[in-house]
Amino acid sequence: MQPIWKHTENFTGGRDGTPVDRIVIHYIVGTLAAADATFANPSSGVSAHYGIGEGALHQYVSEMNTAWHAGDFPMNQRSIGIEHSADVDRAPSTSTYDISVELCTRICRDYDLDPQTQIIGHSAVVATACPGTVNLQRIRDAVAARL
Ligand SMILES: [Zn+2]
Repeated sequence: MQPIWKHTENFTGGRDGTPVDRIVIHYIVGTLAAADATFANPSSGVSAHYGIGEGALHQYVSEMNTAWHAGDFPMNQRSIGIEHSADVDRAPSTSTYDISVELCTRICRDYDLDPQTQIIGHSAVVATACPGTVNLQRIRDAVAARL
């Protein structure tokens, strides 16, 4: 699925030469439209490279640039951040998982990443409930099966 570009000013140009070696998985605590609105707001100070939900894939930041998603700037520089439509009481839909697996498979191929160790949850970076109801292992296993 080709992403639809959505606006954000919340990123840093380039990665200061840092190679991409992680995918960081997030949940929105809301729909994809909520992520669109948050990232379009300069005062939010947050973004991600991609957002998935309601059958759609949105891109906010080029993979060449540093998105502000992990709460840790060195991790932002080395990672691609992906948001998933879900809530504390609503797991991602099958469609959201399918789009995520397709995207993560492509990213793992492009950057030669091991899905079992290099696809991580936000909570592996900082203390947070994110990625909440996202089943991280389901994504890792599905990507591993496709590589
Ligand atoms: Zn997160």
